[in-house]
Amino acid sequence: MSEKAVRVRFAPSPTGPLHMGGVRTALYNYLFAKKNNGTFVLRIEDTDQTRFVKGAQEYILDALAWCGITPDEGPGIGGEHGPYIQSERKDMYPAYAEELIKKGWAYYAFDTSEDLENMREQAKKMKMPNWQYNSITRSSMKNSLTLPEDEVNSRIKNSEPYVIRFKMPRNQDVRFEDIVRGWVVVNTNNLDDKVLYKSDGMPTYHLANIVDDHTMAISHVIRGEEWLPSAPLHVLLYEAFGWEAPKFAHLPLLLRPDGNGKLSKRDGDRLGFPVFPTNWTTAEGELYSGYREKGYFPAAFINMLAFLGWNPGTTQELFSLEELVAAFTLERVSKSGAKFDAEKTKWYQQQYLRATPNEKLAEQLSQIIDGEYDRNYLAVVCNLMKERATFITDIPLDGDYFFNEPTEYDEKTVHKKWKEETTEIMQNWCNRLTALDPFTSEIIEVSFKQYLEEINKGIGAVLPAFRLLLTGKAMGPSMFEISALIGKEESIKRMEQGIKKIAKLKIQS
Ligand code: GLU
Repeated sequence: MSEKAVRVRFAPSPTGPLHMGGVRTALYNYLFAKKNNGTFVLRIEDTDQTRFVKGAQEYILDALAWCGITPDEGPGIGGEHGPYIQSERKDMYPAYAEELIKKGWAYYAFDTSEDLENMREQAKKMKMPNWQYNSITRSSMKNSLTLPEDEVNSRIKNSEPYVIRFKMPRNQDVRFEDIVRGWVVVNTNNLDDKVLYKSDGMPTYHLANIVDDHTMAISHVIRGEEWLPSAPLHVLLYEAFGWEAPKFAHLPLLLRPDGNGKLSKRDGDRLGFPVFPTNWTTAEGELYSGYREKGYFPAAFINMLAFLGWNPGTTQELFSLEELVAAFTLERVSKSGAKFDAEKTKWYQQQYLRATPNEKLAEQLSQIIDGEYDRNYLAVVCNLMKERATFITDIPLDGDYFFNEPTEYDEKTVHKKWKEETTEIMQNWCNRLTALDPFTSEIIEVSFKQYLEEINKGIGAVLPAFRLLLTGKAMGPSMFEISALIGKEESIKRMEQGIKKIAKLKIQS
């Protein structure tokens, strides 16, 4: 028998922006599909109209596009199993709910919200706080199992509101094998009669999810651990319909950096890192920051995310998306929660910045700085700065001296490294620079070393003053490279001006 074609889906609900945990779910689905020559489907699960958030669907599509996680089928893309937005599939669900009723797996329930509230209150009084509509309590409720058939029919005929509930069997072990967690066994006595179809004419998540996974020929359901408690109901629904269930893989939770609890949307900005792929502004105008706007490269973000709950079993940490596809298996996804590590996330970004060709960085740099600069000039700036930067925006911040002469001089260096003799040493060094031709970093370096020998000084006594004059800073990349890049004229101008300014500072202090 040939293996079923691999078809997986990412099925977010547009109830808000996509948390990075959601992006990881999408990523693992994508990687699994690509690894197995399968299909990655995007399905929008919007049956809960009360939780619908405007703009969320667009956010999800945009965020996935930024990450490079491209669905093969989905809204706006098409495919043979559409539509891919559940509200657009609305008309197909009632027949499935009716089918379950006919088969004795579901029933109509007419209880009003007050009825349910009363039951809860009564149960609370009897010290049973977690009242559930289940295989025991259903016998004292208003449903098609307790009411006479003609009353049920006339209620429906008179358009009385009803829901359709799943008839959870009594005392039965539901078992299924989860690819990540192994065998899962749950007794149905712990499960309630979930609503499958609501009085507003919409299916609930459970019904729509199962019907869609089946009709979209989904082979593997890869989703967050928070859905594990729903899985036994889903397994029973497949059984009820007489359909083969897909294979399940429930992914570990993303935890806070200290391992204390689930990483929530509020944690990010509170602990100083984004929790969302891209910026999200709520209807009330509250901004949640995103990786994109913080300056992360999508490849770095994806690489970091891949490692939150998976590892390749080797020491390799840097993986392009294609490499992740080649290395990914669900068997290497861990059961235990994955702690988010903000420092490691920055580390990934640094690695990707360093690995980006200077010309490409120069192009990005040109878009964020004021003024027009030669692309080659910017490429050299990037080459000098990228080892010490995390984001492209760090380059013009830390290396502002590539674009403007210094206006301030690092106080500590002025204080510690600028001695009485330094003014003269720098004046003479400036004269030497004037004579250099061509003005290359190698020639500047050789000349500097000769000069040090002549005046019998160590590099540590003289170089900081040179750096101060040209950049205003205490640290940075090679001074010979900096000087050569800004050029002879500019170097000399900065030295002459700087010597005067620092001499003044010295008198004041
Ligand atoms: N709509 C569910 C969610 O928002 C999907 C759960 C599943 O993948 O079955 O996460």
